[in-house]
Amino acid sequence: MRYKLVRVLCLAALFAAFAALFTVGAGANEPYVAESDVYCTARGDADGDRKITPADARAVLRSVLLLEELPEKTEALCDLDGDKGLGTGDARKVLRMAVGLESRPAHKDQKTVTTQEATCYEQGISAHICAYCGEYYNFGVIPERPHTAIGWQVEREPTCAKAGVKRQYCKYCGIQINEEKIPATPHIYGPMQFVSSTPDCTRPQEIYRVCVNCGKRENGIRPVTEHTWSWVTVLAPTCTELGKQAQVCAVCGMKSGETQNTFSLGGHIPSGWIVVKYPTRTEEGLQRIICTRCGEVLEEEILPKKQ
Ligand SMILES: [Zn+2]
Ligand SMILES: [Zn+2]
Ligand SMILES: [Zn+2]
Ligand SMILES: [Zn+2]
Ligand SMILES: [Zn+2]
Repeated sequence: MRYKLVRVLCLAALFAAFAALFTVGAGANEPYVAESDVYCTARGDADGDRKITPADARAVLRSVLLLEELPEKTEALCDLDGDKGLGTGDARKVLRMAVGLESRPAHKDQKTVTTQEATCYEQGISAHICAYCGEYYNFGVIPERPHTAIGWQVEREPTCAKAGVKRQYCKYCGIQINEEKIPATPHIYGPMQFVSSTPDCTRPQEIYRVCVNCGKRENGIRPVTEHTWSWVTVLAPTCTELGKQAQVCAVCGMKSGETQNTFSLGGHIPSGWIVVKYPTRTEEGLQRIICTRCGEVLEEEILPKKQ
């Protein structure tokens, strides 16, 4: 009986304070409107309408006075002073929040999630989830991702006349990321054609060949050949002197400048005495020994006059 009386008195006193606060608040201060991006919409919300109004304070107070039973979870959300139970202090806080005299509590960070994945063409969005109200808040930007290249695509096949082109595109947005040349293929040449006759030691041979695909002409040259050297006698040997040979190209007649000595004939070949002039009674005669090869006089002798 006594307990009930205390309870009724308490209730009356609180309702009076309640009304006073409300009268003061209604003029200058608009009722507080929760912004879920900044404040938690669940703390102090005893009736679950996501708004804090005097009705929430009343519900908390009624729970304190055992006139109403709130779900356990709601009780926890309304325990604003953190003393592990509902009391008149919590009801007062809710009322002050409802009339804008006190800020609503902030969200309690549970985890950070990605609400929208970033792509290569659009930024993503991250958010925190509140452990109390389960709402997203504190949104953030996730930077765009780099493009993701898919394999090379050949845009133009190379030929022997022109290089090809290949490109890489992004798998997700299709934008072109890379471009590279594909080297031209080798020409396919037909048989060698000859402009002039076979090369020798004096002139090269002009040649060419033509690509059977694109007609490109490639000119070439087969270089001059080596001279064909042989030794040619330029000074014949004599009985006493060495001979001389020079190196000469058998094809074009050019001299290399190289020379060499050859053997000598190994000395004169003497004849017997040969009478050049017979002596007479008035004149002396003459006989000689000469070389039978070169004719050089080797010895000479006067023959006396005949008697
Ligand atoms: Zn919250
Ligand atoms: Zn992309
Ligand atoms: Zn070609
Ligand atoms: Zn030559
Ligand atoms: Zn001789």
